[in-house]
Amino acid sequence: MPILRQIAQIGHPILRRETRIIENPADPVIQALIDDMLATMVEANGVGIAAPQVHEPLRLFIVASRPNPRYPHAPDMEPTAMLNPELLLRSEETEKGWEGCLSVPGIRGLVSRSTHIGVRYLTRTGTVREAELDGFIARVFQHEFDHINGLLFPDRVEDTRELVSEREYLRIVSSTE
Ligand code: ZN
Repeated sequence: MPILRQIAQIGHPILRRETRIIENPADPVIQALIDDMLATMVEANGVGIAAPQVHEPLRLFIVASRPNPRYPHAPDMEPTAMLNPELLLRSEETEKGWEGCLSVPGIRGLVSRSTHIGVRYLTRTGTVREAELDGFIARVFQHEFDHINGLLFPDRVEDTRELVSEREYLRIVSSTE
């Protein structure tokens, strides 16, 4: 049975630490960690979660997607575990979009991200996958990729006036839809 993990919040040093490559995806400890992360993400209503957020300094995250107020056309994507992920290319074209984070509760920020990226990762069964990601899923990947490099979305906000409370975010989004 998966265990719900406690999510580290901004200020905890684990979120800023270096992370290790996963040498053996089949290791039962890694498989159990992936199951725990999936359960923890679903419970917290997230669309992604990275290992450092559950206090594990490893190069592993989960990317998911579902329609949401900011991206009503975001695809429904089965949560996917990505091990030792690499960002192979990123478009020069960028787009500003609102982000939140399970480790930064109650805050949203406008972050500029590449609209199109090429990635490589291992699946949880150890298979190498290459993929091109766009839009919301590309944004989630870049957000999670930052996590395994010790970065949080407020580090990417260009103007601190574009950091807002969850309540103000909901007001802004509902008035621009
Ligand atoms: Zn996050």
